[in-house]
Amino acid sequence: MGLRTAEELSRILARIDGRGYKAYEELRGSYRFPQWELSIDYVQPDPFAPPSRIRIRIPQAVAQFPEELFGERIRRIALQDYLARRVRAAIDAIAQKHRGSGKSGLWVIDAGGQEVLERTAVRITPQWIEVRLSIGLPAAGRTVLGRQADAMLRHELSEIVQQSLLWHRTPQEECRRFVECVENQEFLRRQLRARNLVAFVADGALLPRRSGISQLPLPTAIPFRSPPTLRVSFTPPNPVWHNGQLSESITGMGIPEGVTLIVGGGYHGKSTLLRALERGVYPHIPGDGREYVVTREDAVKIRAEDGRRIEQVDLSPFIGTLPYGQSTHSFCTDNASGSTSQAANIIEALEAGSRLLLLDEDTSATNFMIRDARMQALIAKPDEPITPFIDRVRELWQRFGVSTIVVMGGCGDYLDVADTVIAMREYRAEEITERARAVAAALPTGRQPESPTPLERLTERALIPESIDPARGHRAVSIEAKAVDLLLIGTTAVELWAVEQLVDISQTRAIGYALHLLASRYADGRTRIADLLDALEQLLNTDGLEALWPFAHSGSPPGNLARPRRYEIAAALNRLRTVRMRQCR
Ligand code: ADP
Ligand code: MG
Repeated sequence: MGLRTAEELSRILARIDGRGYKAYEELRGSYRFPQWELSIDYVQPDPFAPPSRIRIRIPQAVAQFPEELFGERIRRIALQDYLARRVRAAIDAIAQKHRGSGKSGLWVIDAGGQEVLERTAVRITPQWIEVRLSIGLPAAGRTVLGRQADAMLRHELSEIVQQSLLWHRTPQEECRRFVECVENQEFLRRQLRARNLVAFVADGALLPRRSGISQLPLPTAIPFRSPPTLRVSFTPPNPVWHNGQLSESITGMGIPEGVTLIVGGGYHGKSTLLRALERGVYPHIPGDGREYVVTREDAVKIRAEDGRRIEQVDLSPFIGTLPYGQSTHSFCTDNASGSTSQAANIIEALEAGSRLLLLDEDTSATNFMIRDARMQALIAKPDEPITPFIDRVRELWQRFGVSTIVVMGGCGDYLDVADTVIAMREYRAEEITERARAVAAALPTGRQPESPTPLERLTERALIPESIDPARGHRAVSIEAKAVDLLLIGTTAVELWAVEQLVDISQTRAIGYALHLLASRYADGRTRIADLLDALEQLLNTDGLEALWPFAHSGSPPGNLARPRRYEIAAALNRLRTVRMRQCR
């Protein structure tokens, strides 16, 4: 289809005004505006259906964003994320949302929350900026409202572009600081390994959130302060703006590799610290309070998740022979218990490549974490299949280089296995490793270590590709994210409530497509999960998130995909109840 002009768009809209909604279909195609190009990629079949999809491409000759803000990959991701937020703000300020029935008048851009993610909503190159939006084409009942559509596509769109996508109208200092802040965070994350650290929490960071359902900072939060003995500083590539102050470096608590225990009284901020560390695998926006809370990228939160499915996982490092001689070397269940689910979550995280586990007593199965001296005396070892985590955690570190951070206020037996002990007291951290050693020496637990056999190499698995079927009704591929934690693949629902580091529904959507791609293109029933994930990450790095879109033949990819980590892709795969695996021996 050749390029039409903006005037032709108006003429079409005037002509189809008052006709049935299907007449909008004629809009599909591209239009040359004086300063940009509009493409209408998908036209919704009625005003109540999922909205229509459009793209605007603005040449850099017009937009004029300086290349230094997007030349490097991490800067590009940051600037794209920033621009999506600017477009969303412009929409909120300008767009008149109610122009008729159903979704008439709606404008949507998929901009992020507190985390900065690679997304498809905005793409920026040295030649142009492209923005992908969803719109509700206006109707009265099911009748085309041509004039309203004209107001949207010509005037509102123009206002949105003018306000948010031109460098000379951008708050340039804010924009630069956003990009530099994200780059600084990535720099810190890369530096952690060189310093033998797994995480960093800046002095002055605000960890608590406004509520259990809001990721905004708690306005009355007490700022974090690092214990002198764990204090480290970094000098990132850009100036550091933190808490309204400018400096060249940033100082805070470095959590060392190995086994770290976070202890302290109830309500003193232990879980809040761990939750900040969980999300520290992503960069945060300036002003979030956690923008300088940085965790190694391979950190995986582990929790109990009873009821989940487990497929061919070798649980034997943690769970020995079950009642009536049931082996756990290739364990399957449709209804895991608390302890078996937590064991599977660990084995699967390691299989996907994680070498940093985060656990909280609040969401762990007690019998998975500990069996104390009295229970050891009461229930003989042959009657207890579980090797508790306390008896594996040092082995994981010493033999496999797997670090662990455990929040544990209720069980002092863990003092024996910790390299570092951090106490939270009135939301402030203290390092009390020496005192903890003294207490452990003075009060022996009397428990016997219980690792019947040394930890062996993990048994890895291969995906049987036919076990993922994305078909639903007449559609060969039906994949839908219903919520951050609920994915539909074909007719199967994948429950992700226990996958706590999934932060954005657009990641969930991308995971849905990623699983389909793995099954349809990469899996052959022999390739190990880790290798499948490597191949997928390689593809995303070279071709971008768009490579996940399974309907490339029928138009441009949507603007509502965000990049998931390999650990969350693996987590979804492991929770898809139809999935079948084969152990690689
Ligand atoms: P714990 O796990 O030690 O029992 P939590 O981390 O759940 O405690 O925190 C208890 C409460 O204190 C939560 O409501 C949390 O939002 C709040 N809180 C945590 N850290 C801070 C802080 N730095 N400033 C103010 N409130 C905080
Ligand atoms: Mg807690």
